[in-house]
Amino acid sequence: MKEFDVIVIGAGPAGLLAAGRAAELGAKVLILEKMRQEGRKLLITGKGRCNITNDAAIGEFVKHVFPNGKFLRGAFSKFFSKDIIELLRQHGVESTLERGGRYFPTSNKSADVLKGLLKWLSKLKVEIRCGHRVEKILVEDGVIKGLRANGQDFFAESVILATGGKSYAATGSNGEGYELAKQLGHSIEHPRPALVPLETKGSVAQKLQGLNLKNVKAVVWINDKKAGEDFGEMIFTHFGLSGPIILTLSRIVVDALQQKFKVEITIDLKPALDEPKLDKRLLRDLNEHGKKNINNIFRSWLPASLVPVFIELLELDPEKECHQVSSNERKQIRNLLKNFRFEISHNRSFKEAIITAGGISTKEISSKTMESKLVKGLYFAGEVIDVDAETGGYNLQIAYSTGWLAGNSSVKEKGE
Ligand SMILES: Cc1cc2nc3c(=O)[nH]c(=O)nc-3n(C[C@H](O)[C@H](O)[C@H](O)COP(=O)(O)OP(=O)(O)OC[C@H]3O[C@@H](n4cnc5c(N)ncnc54)[C@H](O)[C@@H]3O)c2cc1C
Repeated sequence: MKEFDVIVIGAGPAGLLAAGRAAELGAKVLILEKMRQEGRKLLITGKGRCNITNDAAIGEFVKHVFPNGKFLRGAFSKFFSKDIIELLRQHGVESTLERGGRYFPTSNKSADVLKGLLKWLSKLKVEIRCGHRVEKILVEDGVIKGLRANGQDFFAESVILATGGKSYAATGSNGEGYELAKQLGHSIEHPRPALVPLETKGSVAQKLQGLNLKNVKAVVWINDKKAGEDFGEMIFTHFGLSGPIILTLSRIVVDALQQKFKVEITIDLKPALDEPKLDKRLLRDLNEHGKKNINNIFRSWLPASLVPVFIELLELDPEKECHQVSSNERKQIRNLLKNFRFEISHNRSFKEAIITAGGISTKEISSKTMESKLVKGLYFAGEVIDVDAETGGYNLQIAYSTGWLAGNSSVKEKGE
């Protein structure tokens, strides 16, 4: 007994796109969402502004995706950034291109993005039932039969699993999708928090809580070897380090911490000056202000809240006059400005991770269709798959593109 052509599990951006595309092709589509409301995570994206997508070309885009951006080329070639921008425009959501190729809704409201997508689905008569938690996917002889939600069976020829990852579980994505896929024999690459803040040893970062640094370079050292770097903005918090460049670097940090490696991050506060140039500048300033005490001169080199911390770390007397600074002390100042070092003790948990790394192995999913290679009629979309990306609108685009392709294949494949 068939009730629906396609049933989508999860009403996040991946599920909404999957459902819409399948319905556009004439399928009778049902979305089951366990929360009381659709798109809970979408609503909090971009601090409530929703960085919809990024305008990078596919070749550049896939460089921001891990562990294997190539897996997404097929999906991106069918439905990409210009397509979501156009789809939203057709449903009343205008977008604005900002710095770094980031698109945001012109209204700056993520709720408008969700509204636009729901308007599209409503026109296509997609049925959405919230408060329905899928407990089991029903399969017979390797072929999809339907699923069970809230103790009730629903039947369909295609099921699309779009349950998201494990981060910000309060939005609904708590990793249940991995269990549903595991029950059907799928392998799960170990889920880890990604784009996540980092905790530091000692109390230096905590003393600087709230300090935001722009135009700095952060370098990750794993077992004393340079493992990555990024340039831009970061912030000190009550537990350690956060902000865009720290989140980007967190991916390699989390993996290294899990392997119990020693992880350090150094911050270069003067990335525009190499060591000899910085030394010249320090020497000039110290000579020019020989009678001033070093407390004053540090203020011209650093944000005010960093000054006492630096003077303490360097074990300098703040009343010392500039002309009394020895060349060895100058070398230590230079070294600290270029290598402000923090040992990383932990990453923060899934609760604070923007995204989940790991998930359903891409080896068992067709990149051409998003169909499972193990179960006929089962498709995957979005963060539940083992792909994740940097910040910049990339992650939502992965959700739309894989969702669209899964929806497209779930209907088209049937006749082929
Ligand atoms: C704070 C924050 C800010 C972010 N900002 C951005 C940004 O600006 N730009 C960007 O590109 N990305 C951003 N992201 C990432 C982006 O939100 C995700 O990549 C995206 O939401 C993934 O979409 P999805 O549809 O795969 O999963 P989700 O959005 O997580 O949706 C999955 C849905 O499935 C439902 N579900 C789960 N299990 C079941 C079940 N058993 N039965 C029924 N339903 C179920 C869940 O309730 C949920 O509604 C942000 C993430 C966070 C946490």
